[in-house]
Amino acid sequence: MADMHTHSDLTRVKGIGIKKKTALARLGINSLKDMLFHYPRGYADKSNRRRVHEVAEGDAATLSGIVKSIQTTRSNGGRVMTRFQMLEDMTPFELLFFNAAYLEKQYSAGETLTAFGQVHKSGRQVTLIHPEIFRESDQLEQQLVIMPLYPLTEGITQRDMAALIREALDTVLPELEETLPESVLRRHRMPGLKASLRELHFPTDRARYKAAKYRLVFEELWSLQLNLALLRVDAKRGKGIAFRTEHVLDHYMRVLPFRLTEAQHSAIMDIYTDMSKDKVMYRLLQGDVGSGKTAVAFAAMALAARNGYQSVLMAPTELLAAQHFEAMKRLFPESVDRMALLTSASKHKKKLREGMSGGATDWIIGTHALLEEEVVFDRLGLVITDEQHRFGVRQRNRLEEKGLSPDVLIMTATPIPRTLSLVLYGDVDVSLLRELPAGRKPIETIYVQKKQFQRLCLKVDQLIETGRQAYMVCPLVEDSEGSAGLQSAQSLFEDLRSGAFRHRRVGLVHGKMKSSEKNQVMTAFADGHLDLLVSTTVIEVGINVPNASVMVVMDCDRFGLSQLHQLRGRVGRGEHASYCYLVADRPGEVAKQRIKKMVETQDGFEIADWDLKLRGPGEFFGTRQHGLPPLKLADLSRHLDILALCQKEVVDLLQRENTKQLEQDEIELLRRRRHEVFESFSI
Ligand code: ADP
Ligand code: MG
Repeated sequence: MADMHTHSDLTRVKGIGIKKKTALARLGINSLKDMLFHYPRGYADKSNRRRVHEVAEGDAATLSGIVKSIQTTRSNGGRVMTRFQMLEDMTPFELLFFNAAYLEKQYSAGETLTAFGQVHKSGRQVTLIHPEIFRESDQLEQQLVIMPLYPLTEGITQRDMAALIREALDTVLPELEETLPESVLRRHRMPGLKASLRELHFPTDRARYKAAKYRLVFEELWSLQLNLALLRVDAKRGKGIAFRTEHVLDHYMRVLPFRLTEAQHSAIMDIYTDMSKDKVMYRLLQGDVGSGKTAVAFAAMALAARNGYQSVLMAPTELLAAQHFEAMKRLFPESVDRMALLTSASKHKKKLREGMSGGATDWIIGTHALLEEEVVFDRLGLVITDEQHRFGVRQRNRLEEKGLSPDVLIMTATPIPRTLSLVLYGDVDVSLLRELPAGRKPIETIYVQKKQFQRLCLKVDQLIETGRQAYMVCPLVEDSEGSAGLQSAQSLFEDLRSGAFRHRRVGLVHGKMKSSEKNQVMTAFADGHLDLLVSTTVIEVGINVPNASVMVVMDCDRFGLSQLHQLRGRVGRGEHASYCYLVADRPGEVAKQRIKKMVETQDGFEIADWDLKLRGPGEFFGTRQHGLPPLKLADLSRHLDILALCQKEVVDLLQRENTKQLEQDEIELLRRRRHEVFESFSI
């Protein structure tokens, strides 16, 4: 297999030189093997013969006619252009070629030709640009088939692509190994990898094409599931720490300033049960915004500390990490000396890190800064990520790898249906917090037309007068071209500060600010030094200010439903009556429905379900955000059923591996995949 998979093999193909190789690299193609997985974005049906009078500009069309004349000229720019004047019965059309003067010698007037190419229409003049041409004698049936159209880049033509694909199909495909177990192929009646790839590039018939595509979609989702599962299974199966739980919860409940909700209590019981086993815990804690996940996290950390192990809580923002840290110090004053807060803003980082590696600290809270290589732990027994969809799979994993076999708890505010959580977390155990702490007043949600904004400001001002604080969230940071009419945080801040709220303390925070500045403003707001905080969605997950009771969302039609729900969750966190004002100027139909849903319910699970039905899961999680590999053919909004099948197959496969019932091909496949996982997932 002499450098079959290296760069050099591309230039082996006729017509592919260094220049084209560079262009191909831009498409992520570095070897002939890559070509096989460079899927068509669509197809051109050459078999569909057309008449000159029916074609339109831009069509890809097949036309036939008699050659009247052939001429080669040179354009001002020095391009050599060869034109074939053609006649379809009495109707003239033209074929135009670039740098192909040799064609003059190969074809002559009076011949009948069939040409496939892109139509350029100028008035009545129809030209096919650089078409493929065939003679009557060229076995037209075999030539005029459905042709793939590939994503291109400058310097690469469809013709180059087709040549490369043909070469790849001839030379690399035969050596390609099957990627799905034989049993899975049989069970789902799917064609093999080779046949599927061939069919996807050069379809022969509709049914076969559909089967091939299904199989390749299946393959992507199966591979995703297996990779995720392998990451987990190793963790899950590893021998974990058997924590001793005696008296820990009693003590914790005594120091808490409030009574745990029933949901919190039972989540803690789930966690303690897992942690007391010598199996590694892998648990997802799903709880709506404000349901009190942090209190559950602290209970788990307390258990680790009591057993002499370190635990880490990773928060999505610096401010939130700092807030958690303060809360933790208040709850466990006797352990303050053994606590550390590590964010990129922390001073004396080296000393903090020494405390962690030397074992002097065991209550550890931080941000992404915890992922840095220099951060080493002594006896890390528990990893908690408060991710609210901010950390990718890889990042999460990186932290888990820092312990030997730490227990893992992932907290998320977005209630996601089981099928989808399977994609993100694999076969994870789930605890739900479906109940809000008692005494919470419902958040009154009100739709406000933009033209009533001034009146809304008066209302907000009255609430500030009673001692409350307010947020105003905008879709943009600053005014910019092409977003006419949308409210930017910068301009709203300036307007309000010198207008309706000139007698108040107004702050501004947005994503373009330096993180230290952001932090300063958010801390000032959290400490009650600001009355009104104008912001972008940076505050979505980053802040817990019980005294804030008003959330105004400007141009609310620009936000997704889950996002609106998250934003609304910033208020209603204390004992005060809270309000969420959704401001929009003539929202569209879909936006109106979203607003209506927000007004109707405050239940995040209900909202998520409804949202999922309305939009499909595509927006629910872009794969990039989660550090998952990109899917080429599979689309999570359309292929949930296939995803579920794959999940079942993967669970089954791993179970059989566990009980040593695998067939030979399955064993080999798993071995290869394990290897792949660590290449593609771990950093
Ligand atoms: P989230 O689940 O959104 O992370 P938090 O953990 O930040 O929620 O909790 C939201 C607020 O509710 C915090 O101010 C917290 O102190 C308070 N809280 C949590 N649990 C309870 C409870 N059982 N009773 C009363 N207040 C609680
Ligand atoms: Mg939280």
